[in-house]
Amino acid sequence: MSAVPKPATSERLRAALPAGSVLTEREDLKPYECDGLSAYRETPIAAVLPSDEAQVAAILKVARETKTPVVARGSGTGLSGGALPLPDGILMSMAKFNRVVDVNPAARQARVQPGVTNLRISQHVGGLGLYYAPDPSSQIACSIGGNVAENSGGVHCLKYGLTVHNVARVRALTIEGDVVELGSEGLDAPGYDLLALAHGSEGLLAITLEITVKLLPKPEAAQVVMASFPDVESAGEAVANVIGAGIVPAGLEMMDKLATRAVEDFVHAGYDLEAEAILLAESDGTREEVAHETAKMIEVMRASGATDIRCSQSEAERLRFWSGRKAAFPAVGRISPDYYCIDGSIPRGALAHVLTRTNELSDRYQLRCANVFHAGDGNLHPLILYDANIRGELERTEKFAADLLEICIEVGGTITGEHGVGIEKINQMCSQFRPAELAQFRAVKAAFDPEGLLNPGKMVPTLHRCAEYGAMRVKGGALPHPDLPRF
Ligand SMILES: Cc1cc2nc3c(=O)[nH]c(=O)nc-3n(C[C@H](O)[C@H](O)[C@H](O)COP(=O)(O)OP(=O)(O)OC[C@H]3O[C@@H](n4cnc5c(N)ncnc54)[C@H](O)[C@@H]3O)c2cc1C
Repeated sequence: MSAVPKPATSERLRAALPAGSVLTEREDLKPYECDGLSAYRETPIAAVLPSDEAQVAAILKVARETKTPVVARGSGTGLSGGALPLPDGILMSMAKFNRVVDVNPAARQARVQPGVTNLRISQHVGGLGLYYAPDPSSQIACSIGGNVAENSGGVHCLKYGLTVHNVARVRALTIEGDVVELGSEGLDAPGYDLLALAHGSEGLLAITLEITVKLLPKPEAAQVVMASFPDVESAGEAVANVIGAGIVPAGLEMMDKLATRAVEDFVHAGYDLEAEAILLAESDGTREEVAHETAKMIEVMRASGATDIRCSQSEAERLRFWSGRKAAFPAVGRISPDYYCIDGSIPRGALAHVLTRTNELSDRYQLRCANVFHAGDGNLHPLILYDANIRGELERTEKFAADLLEICIEVGGTITGEHGVGIEKINQMCSQFRPAELAQFRAVKAAFDPEGLLNPGKMVPTLHRCAEYGAMRVKGGALPHPDLPRF
């Protein structure tokens, strides 16, 4: 593909969009240089801020005609580099698509624009006794368009499902400029399940313009059990035992001592600072259901070796217990200059084993690692603490992360639970999938985007990359991320 010179692309964007919607000055582009995976940064040729569908169509037309790649961006909280700009590309911020279009309480659905933040949906419909269940810890900032693109999860997804289970319909624009409606506001839609395909597609297939989300009635009651454990392994076993006992908590989260200590200094959530690990397990439903389930969870946790158990006694205390978990990432950011969040999923029964292996890797690479994660889903989030200013620490961190993702695959898990692949895990896609499966992924991408203009170089590795990665692993090495400036 022969690209048109960058200045010409910027000029054409300026001609197509209202004044102020095209940013090209270096200082204006700074906020768009990275997403939540801030170790890697790039400057796009322009950042564009469309405010309606016609403007998105105009941007895609310029991209098509000048052969310029386009990276969509929601709020930029992604942790796998999905919204990382390309140096020869356009960065399209969807921030101005920030309206709740309408709410249908009878159908328990809301139509929202992709730039609306996750939390705002629940706030908007709260007065109707409704809420939107998936709740990433970043929900105050992350956009629903980003949630769809990453198929995001959260504390309550164990019981209520991921984004894909809570979205009825997506309206999107293809690179060819065609509007496509995926899914339906009814229970089922004929044809291939393209709605599911859109979830976790990381901006590679189309630009999301509108989303119909499903809403749930707010539960009558909710209570959190906080249990302390003498080691992370017994806490991991308690998680497997809770699920094994037939309980599906509304949330089941684990934090180790490094994480609880960092959090306690930050938000004073009331955590047990002597415990090697704590579990937070929430029950919700009617008052009777909550009382019954809470009693059962306490029984299982005691039998699994809990040394101390506390239950929230008020709504304020329940929110305080969760406030620590939700602030865990920024809290860890206070005790280390940099941290790198890994996101792998494993079968719950393998939790204790993988946590032990994580500690071994922490010793091997001489890097501290805080664990705070969606334990009930088997969705790990080891946070590797490093200092990018110390030579070699980022590279050691990358190797630590790569080894851990390979362990997730080894125990029958996956390299992402909810944060997506982006550039971060593109190498491990080669381990997770067979060549024939990756060929199908490439074919799907090509069907939507034949010229590879939407977020190229993310999520789906090339044949060449996989061959190189395979060779490096045989030699015991690790292939670095695609050539990116490091910080
Ligand atoms: C502190 C912290 C806590 C987090 N906790 C969680 C958690 O509990 N669970 C979880 O799942 N994630 C979590 N995340 C990760 C992140 O918040 C989610 O992945 C979120 O969905 C990203 O949304 P965003 O709007 O920031 O998307 P961005 O980062 O802007 O983009 C993410 C991807 O979506 C694509 N995209 C965005 N908008 C569109 C669109 N309109 N059309 C097509 N593609 C689009 C981008 O190209 C990119 O590939 C956390 C992040 C942080 C920083």
